[in-house]
Amino acid sequence: MDISYIINELGEEREKYFNAVAPPIIQTSNFVFNTVDDMRRLFEDEYTGYIYTRGLNPTVDILRKKLAALDEAEDCLVFNSGSSAIYASVMANIKSGDHIVSVNKPYTWAQKLFNNILPNFGVTTTYVNGTAVENFEKAIQPNTTIIYLETPNSWYLDLQDLRAIAAIAKSKGILTICDNSYCSPLYQKPITMGIDIALQSATKYIGGHSDVVAGVLTGTTAMMKKIFETEFCTAGTGISPFNAWLLIRGLRTLPVRLQQITANTGKVLAFLQQHEKVEEIIFPFDKSFPQYELAKKQMGGACGLLSFHLKVKKIEDIVTFCENLKHILMAVSWGGYESLIIPGCASVQEQDYDINKKSQRMLRLYVGQEEPEYIINDLQQALNII
Ligand SMILES: *Cc1c(COP(=O)(O)O)cnc(C)c1O
Repeated sequence: MDISYIINELGEEREKYFNAVAPPIIQTSNFVFNTVDDMRRLFEDEYTGYIYTRGLNPTVDILRKKLAALDEAEDCLVFNSGSSAIYASVMANIKSGDHIVSVNKPYTWAQKLFNNILPNFGVTTTYVNGTAVENFEKAIQPNTTIIYLETPNSWYLDLQDLRAIAAIAKSKGILTICDNSYCSPLYQKPITMGIDIALQSATKYIGGHSDVVAGVLTGTTAMMKKIFETEFCTAGTGISPFNAWLLIRGLRTLPVRLQQITANTGKVLAFLQQHEKVEEIIFPFDKSFPQYELAKKQMGGACGLLSFHLKVKKIEDIVTFCENLKHILMAVSWGGYESLIIPGCASVQEQDYDINKKSQRMLRLYVGQEEPEYIINDLQQALNII
């Protein structure tokens, strides 16, 4: 399907709403029935129509159709956060006594689910280094029901070979879930590589304006219906019509935003690479990246998130660098218009600063949509100070 068609037209039925170009926000909690029979039919299967906005809603449905098509999936559910999408996809597919194989260091709240919540229900998790496919094979137990992936993962940007891992999982009847937040649906399509459920935080590139928190799952209609009828409706994790409308709006400009971010990232990368205070840069589309070949094979692009280490004599220099940036904001998340930075040392107490720990000298930079010189000049002036 043509990407412009998906973004501009798919799911939109303008004749139903006065031929308005932009879709309406159907801001209603409930929907009216004219006959008892119609009501009965929907009570039997809420996944087929509109009863109540905790379930399905027409504004959200426009978004669902577009996001399913972008992922080349049959169906989609949209959540009020990426984290609730993680939660629902896992909880709907696990029971007491099951085992999960997860890539090392998945997103923080996925880790908390695996480490703090699931053990209460007798579900265990084994973490593996995801850069070698054999590690997944070795960790699989007779009771393994889910392989959980995130590629590239945040900070170290390690990749997992999606096709190879999906093939192993399929041969053993294990469900695969992949967090695709880094690439966005434009630059990586896990479903087309055999992954069962693709997941992403729409807070990042799809929203694109740092003003909405949302999450997405795509997969088969049977799987989406199963999740809808379990966690989605019981936990009430669906997105609101207004936030869905903001995401539809975000999608309109997703390709052009990613182009600008990608071009900027290339220039920022070149600047950092030649700078004498920069020790090492981690970016999947850089030739020095250990998994560069795999990145080229399964990703269409790498967008704006990279990590780098600074050559400094003390961790306080990293603090000085970050606090002297004038335009690049110190904040979590990514995918918006604005460049952002997080220092690794923000995760340790000051008394534990240790210059020999490389992770404390690490910085995660998100390159936004500003003019490239604006970002580079800001980095340059802050590097001059240390
Ligand atoms: C941000 C993020 C999430 C969580 O999404 P929210 O929308 O913040 O709940 C999940 N996975 C990754 C990789 C993320 O970066």
